[in-house]
Amino acid sequence: MDSRDVTSDRFQPEITVAAPGRINLIGEHTDYNMGFVFPAAIDRRIEFRMRKNGSEYDCQVYSVEFDKLLSFKLSEVRPSQEEWENYILGVVHEIQKLGHTLHGFDCQLSSNLPIGAGVSSSAAMECGLAFALNSLFNLGLSKMEIILLSQRAEHNFVGTKCGIMDQYASVMGQPNQAILLDCRNITHEMIPLNLEHHSLLLLNTNVSHSLASSEYNLRRSECEQGVEILSKAGMKVESLRDVSEEDLVAHQNILPPVILKRCLYVIRENQRVLLAAKALKGESLEHFGELMYQSHEGLQLEYEVSCKELDFLVDFSRKTPHVLGARMMGGGFGGCTINLVHQESKNRFVDEIKKAYTQEFDLELDPIWVHPSQGTSVIS
Ligand code: ADP
Ligand code: MG
Repeated sequence: MDSRDVTSDRFQPEITVAAPGRINLIGEHTDYNMGFVFPAAIDRRIEFRMRKNGSEYDCQVYSVEFDKLLSFKLSEVRPSQEEWENYILGVVHEIQKLGHTLHGFDCQLSSNLPIGAGVSSSAAMECGLAFALNSLFNLGLSKMEIILLSQRAEHNFVGTKCGIMDQYASVMGQPNQAILLDCRNITHEMIPLNLEHHSLLLLNTNVSHSLASSEYNLRRSECEQGVEILSKAGMKVESLRDVSEEDLVAHQNILPPVILKRCLYVIRENQRVLLAAKALKGESLEHFGELMYQSHEGLQLEYEVSCKELDFLVDFSRKTPHVLGARMMGGGFGGCTINLVHQESKNRFVDEIKKAYTQEFDLELDPIWVHPSQGTSVIS
């Protein structure tokens, strides 16, 4: 009975849902400051092959990449010691909390997304499963409900207090479009991504420095301190979104230098996101690329969340005339850079930068070409 064996490559699903990872063109650390981000879904994804299994409670989920099987009962859903299981259990739990009834299902998932590289395999896990359960059991959930319950699953079961961008991009993505997302209102504008003769390239540093989560929390609190100091000084601000660079400079005497630097970065990065959208609308790819370089510089020098591997890659790109823009992508301290590369020098650039990176750090550099693509959807 291979067709019903969830671990078999002959497993026969009723439906298949694909959930993509995402890139963020520009707008880093702006989400929790109620600002703008500029993500797009990519052509790398997790596929969820699903079928009802006729039981009331019994579920099985098999991850092909991990070669691991999770078996659980819908009547006993609680967090697990195994991290990956919590993405599944968290989504099931959040759907149940909304008052929906699920029945036994089998799910086989396979992925071509790099894990932990900052393209959000985590959001693809959550959104793909939520979308697939919604279709399989006709739950009638809207896309927005899928986004929000997926985020809650990550908060409550995985324990990562992520923003909304990853889930939003994974669900809402459209081919050849980027999503200008306003994190205050949670509304977006689709911006056509006409890259002419250029392609988007991720370069995975294959490093993940342990500072990432402690520094992330510290940056959040530094931004909050900035807001608090400005509020106490009589400004009407709820988040750094409400502060202009002029306002900030006018109050520089009462802000500790480190807080001033962090706030300055956030305010400027927000401006850069809007300018980047404008540059794309006006088809000025050069300007768009320059904003990417500026974003990196801000992350490196003002926000101080980069690392030597990321800086090395961005410096290398800057020296290459056919690379219009580059910056670190994600929270920092590792992961990928995102590069806007002219198609003529695609192969040569990858060869050169791989060689230079390995020489410098004795590490592999993984290139991943990405293309803005369809968000989470039923594919068969
Ligand atoms: P990122 O979202 O940047 O890829 P995260 O650490 O947020 O990194 O999420 C990665 C986690 O998501 C993995 O450690 C694993 O628990 C889960 N995950 C991602 N892809 C898979 C997969 N194919 N099978 C099982 N779990 C996966
Ligand atoms: Mg993640």
